[in-house]
This record gives sequence, C-alpha cells and structure tokens, in this order.
Amino acid sequence: MIVVIKRGASAEEARTVVEKIKAMGFDVNVSQGAERLIIGVLGVRENKDTLAAQLGSLAGVERVMPISKSFKLVSREGAHADTIVKLANGAEIGGGLVHVMAGPCTVEGRDMLIETAKWVQACGATLLRGGAFKPSTSPYSFQGMGKEGLEILSEARALTGLPIITEVLDPRDVASVEAHADILQIGARNMQNFQLLKEVAKSRKPVMLKRGLSATIEEWLLAAEYIYAGGNHDVIMCERGIRTFETTTRNTLDLSAVPLVKQLSHLPVVVDPSHATGKWDLVTPMARAAVAAGADGLIIEVHPKPSDALKDGFESLTFNKFAAMMDAVRPVASAIGRPVASDAAAAV
Ligand code: PEP
Ligand code: MN
Repeated sequence: MIVVIKRGASAEEARTVVEKIKAMGFDVNVSQGAERLIIGVLGVRENKDTLAAQLGSLAGVERVMPISKSFKLVSREGAHADTIVKLANGAEIGGGLVHVMAGPCTVEGRDMLIETAKWVQACGATLLRGGAFKPSTSPYSFQGMGKEGLEILSEARALTGLPIITEVLDPRDVASVEAHADILQIGARNMQNFQLLKEVAKSRKPVMLKRGLSATIEEWLLAAEYIYAGGNHDVIMCERGIRTFETTTRNTLDLSAVPLVKQLSHLPVVVDPSHATGKWDLVTPMARAAVAAGADGLIIEVHPKPSDALKDGFESLTFNKFAAMMDAVRPVASAIGRPVASDAAAAV
C-alpha cells in the first residue's frame, strides 16, 4: 500500500504517518518525489485494512492506495492455474467443458422433480438443480419443502446419477444440506452472509457462490475469499444478474463478469440466465452468449408446467424449450472449443 502525503504537509505530519505505520508492525519506505512525499507500507499483516482506514484520517494524508488485490487466494496474482472443481462422479467444472445444471427453481414434489431430472438429463444436463430451502423476498411466498425436498433430491440422484446442486440458507443447515448435495449453492441474497460463508468453508463439498444483487466484482471475489481462506478451495462463481436502473428485465446480466472474473481469479464461472433476465424467452439467447463469453457452465430453471410453478415460472423453460435451448447452445460451445460436457462424454 502507498500513502501519498499532501503537498505542503508539514514534516511533523509526515513523521506521524511513518510512526503510525511502524507502530502497527509494518516496514516503511519513504521516497521524496518532485512534488510529493510518497510512503510505501511494506509487509503482510491482518491489520492492513484497519491501518489503511486509520491513515486516511490523519492530517497531511492525501490518499491511501492499495497496490495488491484485496482478494489474495482467489486471485490470479501468483499465476495460479485454473481451479477445476471435481465432483464425486468425476465431472469437472472449470476443465474446459460446459456443464449445464438444470431443474426447477424449487422442489415442489417427488414426481415433478424426478420427471424433470430425467428430461434434463436426456437433453444433456449434467447436474440437477432444485431449491429445498428457498430465499424468498416476501415472507408470504413459498419457503421450500425443506428436509423433505432434500430427500427427494437424493432420490432423483439415485435414480439418474445426476449430481445435485441446492441452496443452503442457514449456517445451522449446512450439515443436513451437504449430506444430500454435491454442490452447496450460496444464493445472491446471502453472498455477504459471512457466518454462512465461514460455515460452508468448513465443508468438503464444493460451493457455488452467486453474485449478490448489488455486489461489485471485488465484493463478490472477497466473499469467495472467505470460503477459500476458510479451507474450502472448491469454489465456483455464478453470475446471475445485478440490479440496475433497468426494470424491464428482472436483473441485468453482466456478461463481462465472465471474462473479467476469469482474468482476476482462477475460479470457474457459471452463468444463470434464468434469474439474470427473469424472462423465459431471453434465457436461450443469453445462455448462448454466456457460453460464447467463456462460461464454464449454465444453471437453468426448467419446470414441467411453468404456469403452475410455485416460484419463478415466468423465467422457467418448458421441457421442449429446454431441449431447444440445448440444441442452440451446443454449436456455440463447440465453435469456441468448449463442448457441452454430456457431448464430450458421449464422444469418448
Ligand atoms: C435460485 O437459484 O433459485 C435463486 C434463488 O437464485 P438467486 O440467489 O440468484 O436469486
Ligand atoms: Mn428461482
């Protein structure tokens, strides 16, 4: 970190800054530029952010500038190789193939889930999604089937072999959700639930971290850093749209986040065009665009009858529309040399 001293600041003010830095355990490198005094803060310590904030309030300080990324372990700095998240069935997310995770927003019952699981698998999905614990904006809307929903997800996995991705909302539920899930999903509304992040960090199951509704890329990567630093290195990022002034779509899909997060971090990136757009007829075009932008996977809401869905029917694909989406995505994936995972498996 670099501290720029104001033009005209007194020698006493500069000395106070240097003493403060040293008192907090850092080394100092002072350099007198043509116009300003620049003080380099050297050393890696946990209290660096506190020091930065405190220095900013000292007289004579013009600016405090970080020079390395605030997220360290998930950063590309240090030339970390791409993280490949391996699932129990051997599937690899981030390994150059596009994984499609599909299923209903919410597990609504056994038959609908199993019927959906079989269909999406036949179409080429390699993971089954479905919420048992649902984060609902309104306390009056359906909160999910809870533990019963988890049992149904397990049964669907037993029948189809599809790994399960499902959301965990509460640190107290991590143990029961991880007993049924292959990937723990952290929803957008919980991206900065630091207690929950610390709890899933202790799990041995991979975590998919959705971007918060209004989270910057840095905040999102710092949330990932919590999980990584807590000991769980199997983290997948999921761009699911952010809140902007635009209200015609449910959210605004920030597609540039895909190549940007891949530049900044070694973690795989999945895109959720269902929640990003909130409109079923925008899902396929944005799914294709996401794959073209280099996404490692897609997560798509599919329902046997969206008009009867308990949640998110307006953005859910019917079975036939999901089949058509897969057909539309395949040529894009192949064109950029990152085939859909089920096609690559079939070709072996
Ligand atoms: C979901 O995947 O069903 C969901 C609630 O998504 P998000 O957290 O992105 O809103
Ligand atoms: Mn949903």
